[in-house]
Amino acid sequence: MGAPGSGKGTQGRLLSRHFQIPYLASGDLLRRAIEQQTALGTQVQSYVERGLYVPDHLMVPAVMAELEGMYRQDNGGVILDGFPRTREQAVALDAALAAARRAIQRVLHLFVPKDVLIARLASRWTCSHCGATYNVLTKPPGAEGICDLCGHSLFQRVDDQPDKVERRLSVDLEKAIAVGGYYHQQGLMCQIDGNRPAGEVTADLIAAVRDCQAVSTA
Ligand SMILES: [Zn+2]
Repeated sequence: MGAPGSGKGTQGRLLSRHFQIPYLASGDLLRRAIEQQTALGTQVQSYVERGLYVPDHLMVPAVMAELEGMYRQDNGGVILDGFPRTREQAVALDAALAAARRAIQRVLHLFVPKDVLIARLASRWTCSHCGATYNVLTKPPGAEGICDLCGHSLFQRVDDQPDKVERRLSVDLEKAIAVGGYYHQQGLMCQIDGNRPAGEVTADLIAAVRDCQAVSTA
């Protein structure tokens, strides 16, 4: 968990590589569905383009189908990013995981103060093709406006534009409090200070995952 601009996408991918566990970002899943014009893609396109929350009745089955595919590969787990985003999604996820004899083991929350998030988001640019993100201040692409990874053009997401950021953060915070409360009750929450150099944040996240792995195998 983490607000837009908290670094959770970057950190999630790093954790995935470190532990050799697949990484599933709901944002990537939606982008892919829209690009491939699947049934889900056409249903969610207008929400994503307007920066709105995709309704639970579309989001939950989409993520579950993807997770089932990952279970069949019988790996050691999945790192989820951007899902569940509402309390209803968290409840639905728990039910589906229980049916598959699985469970959430740890919820990592990257906390970053609001003024820092606003500054980060205003300088963020996203690849139109692969979804990679760049920061014109701290992580600029090699060539201006071009993705280092795939060569496609970069754009500023509508909801990263300064006037939209503040509203987006308050909506996000409201939902995050509900989801966080749900997992806190289950004793799964782990708060990580995300307003530090990326390497320190990664080290803390790795330690928190190790900690829960130790508990689950004890
Ligand atoms: Zn790209």
